Amino acid sequence: AFNFNAGPAAIPLEVLKQAQEQFVDYQGAGMSIMEMSHRSKMYEAVNDKSQSLLRELFGIPENYDVLLLQGGASTQFALLPMNLLQPGKPGAYVMTGAWADKALKEAKLVGETVVSASTEADKFMRMPTLSEIEIPGNASYLHLTSNETIGGTQFKEFPETGDVPLIADMSSDILSKPVDVSKFGVIYAGAQKNLGPSGVTLVIIRKDLVENGSKSIPAMFRYSTHAKSGSLYNTPPSFSVYMMNLVLEWIKNKGGVAQLDQINQSKTKLIYDTIDQSGGFYIGCAQPQSRSLMNITFRIQNEELEGLFVKESEKEGFVGLKGHRDVGGLRASTYNAVPLESCQALQQFMVDFQKRNG
Ligand code: PLP
Repeated sequence: AFNFNAGPAAIPLEVLKQAQEQFVDYQGAGMSIMEMSHRSKMYEAVNDKSQSLLRELFGIPENYDVLLLQGGASTQFALLPMNLLQPGKPGAYVMTGAWADKALKEAKLVGETVVSASTEADKFMRMPTLSEIEIPGNASYLHLTSNETIGGTQFKEFPETGDVPLIADMSSDILSKPVDVSKFGVIYAGAQKNLGPSGVTLVIIRKDLVENGSKSIPAMFRYSTHAKSGSLYNTPPSFSVYMMNLVLEWIKNKGGVAQLDQINQSKTKLIYDTIDQSGGFYIGCAQPQSRSLMNITFRIQNEELEGLFVKESEKEGFVGLKGHRDVGGLRASTYNAVPLESCQALQQFMVDFQKRNG
């Protein structure tokens, strides 16, 4: 299948085959990795390796903890303010669409919040410019969503926030391009788009924020609990972590994140060029300066044709091109594991579809 699903999303075929080979008997242990104790040497090696590969591939400095948690990015919407929101110091949020909104709503349940910038007036079809983002000096942190998976918009650069920790939900673009991690206090992401299967959530957090986090919340909710135990405080999502490990090795073998960035740019250029050169048949949703390299959202003027596009594309082996149920239209998610060939096939399909229906 040409898998353009938004999440869970494509996993590299090589990785799936490798997992298949090791599925029943992991490295001669006579059992599957998912049957092993998480206190065993073999699983600890997987756990350690995934954390060290993440450090290496994403350039995570020593003064950050790398946590592998459960509950998805949605749980982080709540845990972040529970750990880091201080009384009298609001959590500042950049409103860029559906996911930013969910993060803000959870924080409101925990404490004081403020909206630092919003692109609602533009129907969230762009990211704010850096000068539009107002950061209150007393903010506990500034939270943004680096890539809005539903709207198809992406930050191309990040604000300088001084002493205010910058927090990013990178669920849908983590490890798709190099990022200066040292600019951030916290980066978090559900794994199921660029890192592997669902079930594991990555949290990269500066150690001083771990140490200064709230001590009056339950142990499972405290970042310090997981940091102290190397993410083995309780039973981890061991199979998902193992799969993530294989994906990270795949990224390394591909030449790393900078190399993937180049490939991702070529992939999306094919589709965005097709939209722009269609003479208005296809309409890109996001404003060009905010176009996402991970989720390409577009429409066809006639909604009936959108339905036909989805139907015919499915017959040709394309999966996941229907837009999110809240916004409609069409969406192609082009995460790391989506090969260039799938994008070439989609480009060809789009051109042919227009010839037949334009
Ligand atoms: N944030 C973003 C940007 C997302 O795209 C998603 C899921 O698609 C989430 C958060 C929610 O992630 P999870 O399903 O892991 O809770």
